[in-house]
Amino acid sequence: MYNTKAYSAASATSPLASDTIARRDPTEHDVQIEILFCGICHSDVHSVRNEWSDFMSTTYPIVPGHEMVGRVTQVGSAVTKYKPGDLAGVGCMVDSDGSCPNCKTGLEQFCPNLTLTYNSPDKHLGGVTYGGYSDSIVVDERFVLRVPTNLDLPGVAPLLCAGITTYSPMRHWGVTKGKKVGVVGIGGLGHMGVKFARAFGAHVVVFTTSPDKKEDALRLGADEVVVSRNADEMQKHAGSFDFILDTVSANHDINAYLNLLRLDGNITLVGAPEKPLEVAAFSLIMARRSLSGSSIGGIAETQEMLDFCGEHNITADVEVIPIQKVNEAYELLLKSDVKYRFVIDMASLKSE
Ligand code: NAP
Ligand code: ZN
Repeated sequence: MYNTKAYSAASATSPLASDTIARRDPTEHDVQIEILFCGICHSDVHSVRNEWSDFMSTTYPIVPGHEMVGRVTQVGSAVTKYKPGDLAGVGCMVDSDGSCPNCKTGLEQFCPNLTLTYNSPDKHLGGVTYGGYSDSIVVDERFVLRVPTNLDLPGVAPLLCAGITTYSPMRHWGVTKGKKVGVVGIGGLGHMGVKFARAFGAHVVVFTTSPDKKEDALRLGADEVVVSRNADEMQKHAGSFDFILDTVSANHDINAYLNLLRLDGNITLVGAPEKPLEVAAFSLIMARRSLSGSSIGGIAETQEMLDFCGEHNITADVEVIPIQKVNEAYELLLKSDVKYRFVIDMASLKSE
């Protein structure tokens, strides 16, 4: 066991503050990584503030962060894929049972014994796992990702959650050339959704509540932008979409989007608002539409996504901040005021 610096929250109403946490010494299958950059996901805010308590309660102190990119500093004797000095990424998961049907088909994110990167029982040290707002982390090599060397590192970090969470459902629902695809909400996830839908060749329509993001949405790859609070603009697209990805973090009217789907169209929720959303039966019944959800993506698909990003030069648009600004960043995120992901430069933690 060794100590490392981190930022943690002591309760649902406490700000994040400097702390020291324990990490395990690498076992034979482990990779130790010096974290260089860590993205700020809206899930970090939901978790720190215990907004998902009906589904999973937060144990305090919590060290959030599940969009990490860094450099390998040490590997266990049985590790074959990484060596000290390599770039490496870690996302939302750090372990799973490896033996359930979901793990066996590369869908570790649905393993009943999944260990999330933070706020999951820690099998090694007891207590709960601690995330990436920290100097270093120790992870089983099965959950470490290879990072393309041609990409800008701060822009890579958000791929580990925002990237895979938008890539995976688009692959699953067959987003390709000739499909009309909507992306609701242009934040960390949404802006990645636009980039992927564009790269897959779809006709991309962005739905935003922020008219000032219109030009950016077009630059990110949208063919059209709809300000969702304008009912006339929405109505023009009624019954026309093959697929819509909903990334909204707060309560909103999902029926307004269901009605935009064509026959057999699908809307997938990746946004995880605190309160249940109301669904009108007729929004689904009238055109055999479907509503589904999606959680991040498996490890093999996450690697596929990173390799795809390397080949197509895709990274997140980021605002790099020192960790001392993390509480301000949370407030801005709640106002949808981020272009389009805050990423913490972990070098700033060294001065704590
Ligand atoms: P984010 O950067 O804050 O983006 C969310 C966007 O939703 C905002 O930029 C805003 O876009 C829109 N929005 C916010 N409040 C709204 C409201 N009241 N009504 C309508 N639109 C609103 O958050 P994120 O990091 O992308 O995460 C989005 C959600 O996905 C969060 O709930 C997060 O927990 C969840 N998530 C899920 C998974 C998964 O595996 N399923 C993974 C990661 C995150 P506009 O300004 O364009 O309207
Ligand atoms: Zn996330």
